[in-house]
Amino acid sequence: VRRHLYTGISELVQPHALEGQTREPLTIQRDAALLIENGQVSAAGPRRAIAALAAAGHATHIDLGDRAVLPGFIDSHTHVVFAGTRVDEMARRARGETYEQIAASGGGIKRSAAQLEQASERELVETALGRLARMLSKGTTTCEIKSGYGLLPAAEHKQLAAISALGGRTAMRIVATVLAHSIPGVYSERRAEYVALFCEQILAPAARAERARFCDVFVEQGVFTNDEARTIAAAARAAGLGLKLHVDQLHDNGGAEFAAELGATSADHLEESNARGRAALARAGVVATVLPGCRLFLGKGPWPAARALRDAGCEVAVATDCNPGSSMVVDLPLCAMLAATEGGLSLEEALWGITRGGARALALPATDATLTAGDRADFVVLSAEDWRTLFYSPGDPPIDAVVIGGQVVTGALT
Ligand SMILES: [Zn+2]
Repeated sequence: VRRHLYTGISELVQPHALEGQTREPLTIQRDAALLIENGQVSAAGPRRAIAALAAAGHATHIDLGDRAVLPGFIDSHTHVVFAGTRVDEMARRARGETYEQIAASGGGIKRSAAQLEQASERELVETALGRLARMLSKGTTTCEIKSGYGLLPAAEHKQLAAISALGGRTAMRIVATVLAHSIPGVYSERRAEYVALFCEQILAPAARAERARFCDVFVEQGVFTNDEARTIAAAARAAGLGLKLHVDQLHDNGGAEFAAELGATSADHLEESNARGRAALARAGVVATVLPGCRLFLGKGPWPAARALRDAGCEVAVATDCNPGSSMVVDLPLCAMLAATEGGLSLEEALWGITRGGARALALPATDATLTAGDRADFVVLSAEDWRTLFYSPGDPPIDAVVIGGQVVTGALT
């Protein structure tokens, strides 16, 4: 049995279940200790009680010397497996072209699809590993990754195979999602045919091979309609996959209400969602996922209305949406900080959004986002006493070490 006793924890942060809008989302235990056994938390609480427990058996003692410890961060929405770069699109936007204009002239998702088509599975894995390592250094210990740049079956399965291979190459836990992202040009006049192809030749085999836990659809004007999304959602349900939806990103399409109607696990983006939709999400228990990296990266449009979503009673998760076209952002604490400074969340709610909120958005057990007896020992050690320092220097979070399954995977604890 490998046992490690961590003391000198100035603040041990525990996100808990939200009950309405009033309860504080975090519990802070001061002068705490953690006992880790075989990659799991076996005890957590006041230093004296835990140290006495540890004394009963052999444990390696690590004194953190007054540093804050937080549960590992859960990034519940990314497109981190892709090929090539779209930095020139950023240059075009800086000269005044819009995201839609660039997409209409061959840029956007179709550009990423053309780049992915040319890449080997191995290249996709290697480039994504570099990005995952940078995410890990910012505290992310669980990461959702979507397909959706393949569009056609062979390329979608190549992308899903790369996502699956990543699971064995990183300490991070990966959750895979098969994404209906765009209708390929060759099917623009045969949309129903593409929807059937997606369901039968992409979604169903991905579910059978256990290469996806969720299905996601980009519901937006000019992309997938509600009716098309309904067909895909029914196929997802039949295949045993959970449902996530990209909604109300560029226009208010009533997407939040639609996600509530379909009983999705999460509704993501929601920049343009309306009050009726926010109330519907809260009633249906659909997690509202905000992605402030997009507004940061594109420099246009509204910031996600995280405060309005919380005030409506929604559980709000925060994710990076890391992707080459609209949010080339790996830094989850930065996104949480923006959900506070621009989206109106408290710092406590922002941290909840990248821990317990991320777990809720991926239908993971709450124990994956807390540090109590029996939980996964995934945690982040700050170089500061006050956990709120995580948000104090945007882009440069004061992280000394990230631990996954009881092992230090980045940084050091000396
Ligand atoms: Zn996305």
